[in-house]
Amino acid sequence: MSAQELVLRQRTEILHALCSSGSAEHLDQVLDILLSQGELVPEDYQNIQVPGQALYTKTRRLLDLVHAKGVDTCVLFYAALKQVLPEGRAAGFSFPGFCSNREEEVGHPSTSTRTLLTQRPSLVSNLQGCVEDALHALVTSGHFTSADCNDVRLPIYTPSQQARRLLDHVRSKGELAAKVVLQYVQQKQGSGSSLNQENWSPPKVVLKYQKKLSSSVSAQSCFLSTYGGTSHMSLDDIYTEGQLELAHNCDDVHGPLCLEDVVGAVGTVNKEADTVLVSGDAGGGKSTLLQMLHLLWARGTILGEFLLLFPFSCRRLNSERQELSVKELLFEHCCWPDREQEEIFQFILDHPHLILFTFDGLDELKQGFSDEHRLCRPTQRAPVQILLFNLIQGSLMKGVRKVVTSRPEAVGPALRKHLRKEVLLQGFTPSGIECFVRKHHHDPAVASKVLESLRTKNALLGLCHSPVLCWIVSHCHKELLGCGEGSLQTITDVYLMILQHFFQHRSSPKSTTGTSWLQEHLDTVLHLGQLAFEGIGTSCFIFSAADLETCGVTEKDICMGFLVQSKDMSPTHSKCFEFLHLMMQCFFAALYVVSSNNADRSIISNLFEPQNMRGTGLGSTSCFGVCSSATEKPEQALKWEAATAETPNLKITATFVSGLLSQRHRSLWLHCCPGAVTEKRVRQVVRCLSKGMHKHFKSIPQPVEGDKKSMHAMPGFVWLIKCIYEMQDSRVAKDAMSKLVVDHLKLTYCNIGPVECTALAYVLQHLRNPVGLQLDNNSVGDVGVEQLLPCMHNCRSLYLRNNNITDEGIRKLLATGIRCDSFQKIALFNNKLTDACIQHFSHLLKSRQDFLSLRLGNNNITEEGAKQLAEGLKSNRSLKYLGLWGNKIGDAGAVALASALESSTSLVWLSLVGNGVGNAGAGALANIIRNSTSLEELWLTENCITTKGVECLVQALKENTRMKSVWLINNDLTLEEVEELTQRESRLIF
Ligand code: ADP
Repeated sequence: MSAQELVLRQRTEILHALCSSGSAEHLDQVLDILLSQGELVPEDYQNIQVPGQALYTKTRRLLDLVHAKGVDTCVLFYAALKQVLPEGRAAGFSFPGFCSNREEEVGHPSTSTRTLLTQRPSLVSNLQGCVEDALHALVTSGHFTSADCNDVRLPIYTPSQQARRLLDHVRSKGELAAKVVLQYVQQKQGSGSSLNQENWSPPKVVLKYQKKLSSSVSAQSCFLSTYGGTSHMSLDDIYTEGQLELAHNCDDVHGPLCLEDVVGAVGTVNKEADTVLVSGDAGGGKSTLLQMLHLLWARGTILGEFLLLFPFSCRRLNSERQELSVKELLFEHCCWPDREQEEIFQFILDHPHLILFTFDGLDELKQGFSDEHRLCRPTQRAPVQILLFNLIQGSLMKGVRKVVTSRPEAVGPALRKHLRKEVLLQGFTPSGIECFVRKHHHDPAVASKVLESLRTKNALLGLCHSPVLCWIVSHCHKELLGCGEGSLQTITDVYLMILQHFFQHRSSPKSTTGTSWLQEHLDTVLHLGQLAFEGIGTSCFIFSAADLETCGVTEKDICMGFLVQSKDMSPTHSKCFEFLHLMMQCFFAALYVVSSNNADRSIISNLFEPQNMRGTGLGSTSCFGVCSSATEKPEQALKWEAATAETPNLKITATFVSGLLSQRHRSLWLHCCPGAVTEKRVRQVVRCLSKGMHKHFKSIPQPVEGDKKSMHAMPGFVWLIKCIYEMQDSRVAKDAMSKLVVDHLKLTYCNIGPVECTALAYVLQHLRNPVGLQLDNNSVGDVGVEQLLPCMHNCRSLYLRNNNITDEGIRKLLATGIRCDSFQKIALFNNKLTDACIQHFSHLLKSRQDFLSLRLGNNNITEEGAKQLAEGLKSNRSLKYLGLWGNKIGDAGAVALASALESSTSLVWLSLVGNGVGNAGAGALANIIRNSTSLEELWLTENCITTKGVECLVQALKENTRMKSVWLINNDLTLEEVEELTQRESRLIF
């Protein structure tokens, strides 16, 4: 097939590859190359780059033009694509294998304006980062006016786009202007970046500063902060690797990421952006991961390419009242240079690629990310949030790499478009949990006992996937070992356990007769609860002595250990406090809601329906100087409230409230507030949950005739499910599910991990009829799969594409699935399956003569797996769909499958796309066509079949009128062969 035809055929894939990241950089680079080769002339370029046009429109124009220009241009276009696209994205479609036979063009007079075109790609890359200097040269030589400069500098352009605009402008100014730019670039190359010189070393004063900075970073990070800080644990001793994954698919990344990959080039989607986002749930280990990164940098173990690392905590930056410049931010908030501040700062400005900034907890900033206020000068002062947003989006300190952590809910599209990549931190794997517990307990016998106990408590094991819960469970191992199965089910249970643990270990053991532990410490709970509650309402996480006093927090309350002294940033250096962890603050806020007699009556509905909150209850009761000082403008306070209403903290607090009001814990409140009040609160929560669910169900559209009724979960659905789970009241779960009448429940991209799976299974087991459960693109993993087992009987089909599931998860899933009569379909595209799990599918197929669909695409199944699967298929009479796209079964695997399916009377659809199948496989598959009475579609795209193999398929098709199509795109056939075969058999699709 010619390159010209391929451009047409692969149009969608090319569009996707060039545009899906949202950045125009790839398209721009392709245009640069084609311009430099003379395949496009400047007029073509202008016709494509129409200002204001969408990226897709521009790319479509390019494709039309390239196609219209003929085969040679198409070949060069493909070569440019290959050069520009990251390997993963380029792999999505095949490139024509032939090369251009165009001769280098000769005979053109070599003018400077022409050189601007022929060397455009390298000029763009050389000019990036020094556009200002080049502009200066052009202004000085009289070729550019300040209006020209402003046109180039427009902040909407990325640095490479600025470089391109500069070149375009220069060309229009003529030969002399072009000469100036070329001379400038030559000079720059001649002087060479000092960093390229092998024995370059930074100035002494910078090295001295680096030493000071790294020893301060090391001191700050060598002990685990937050929860673990309670026992001064060294980070080295306890750090356990969490699961790190790219948020987007990347074909060239296999296996988990390591710490270094967070900052490294792996998985970059936007090379122009500087900011890497690490996202994960509260307590998922984001701060700890950053801390480890800091420590390893300070020791010189990793990130050696960065000379200076500046760590920031957004929580602490919140307390910064003054406007700051970048210089003040770096030096005053991180490390003060003892001398030569100017020189050091200039070094930082001149060498952005040697600098790394980290910002922990972006979600804790009081103001959501916005890129409205642009700052361009590093000396300009601005409120700290604005400064931070400008750093993140790159209008300040472009080229400095930044790592930001946040909970995923707090990251909106405004921030996403400035991301270099996103990395998801997804808690511990099962072996991670074991490793953590063993590190936590020096006595191996105790560790083994804890692990044994966890194995018997399935729901708890699911919770331990979250590092913070794993820590609590390990920390409270005595309580854990003393309790029976079923007593620790929910996150609330685990937090109540640590509450009790702290109270019992920190207070003097006076024997109070007859009083419950909570009653004994009710004052502390109420004081800390009010502090936490007020803080949640106003996004306040650091409390001054005055705040503590307002809520009646005493020295004795502080001694209990839930509050720790925070590393104070305030100019007065007065003592400040924060909760051990944000989750602990939310838990205390919930304790306050449930146990206080003073709590506003509307609190519960405000908490569960934050959109109704403005002006009442939560948020408006703030009494903290730190959060909303008397000087604060009312509009600002209102803005904060509005932002807070959306924050996940309220949701976590509401989840704890549901748990604390569950029947199992109601006796705790007997002595705190009248039973009638508690009952009323319970009814309120149940009503809110039911109302919330109802709202979701009302949004389900009526199905189009013939279609199934399906519901796509909206944000908040999973949270409601979690609240219901925390209540542990099957009546509430039953009631919620009684109103859900759908055939298909879609929860794709909903951030579902093991903890969410536990809650989902608890609720979905009460569905009235089995459904199709679609959980594609989450992080279910093997632990999550195990949590889902209780609702398997209600899953007609289970879609778990892209979920990090391994053979072990499948073993457990199928052991239960095989016994669930309704379970008939499974889709496991893009997981981590190997031949080792195929025996379980084979067993399933042998035992279940009503199983309909098995899709195992993009895993690691080889010829061996295919042979095992064939064993199961031989004795199965029901399977209709079998998908093995993107595995490695080869000819031998195809032959084995074909012999098992030869006379199938049920199989309708078979896909062996991209499996290295050749003529031998095709020949065997022809037998299915010949004999099967049911097969309608056979997919053999992206294999290595030649005419010989296709001939077998053609002959077989002559004997089969039922078959609708055989797909053979991208096999080893010439254009002529394709034409000839298409004429002979129209059901072959090439
Ligand atoms: P986040 O920043 O996501 O809210 P943290 O990093 O504060 O979570 O983690 C909370 C607690 O969980 C830590 O104090 C520590 O006890 C435990 N933890 C988190 N990640 C790890 C890890 N990688 N290794 C060991 N313990 C961890």
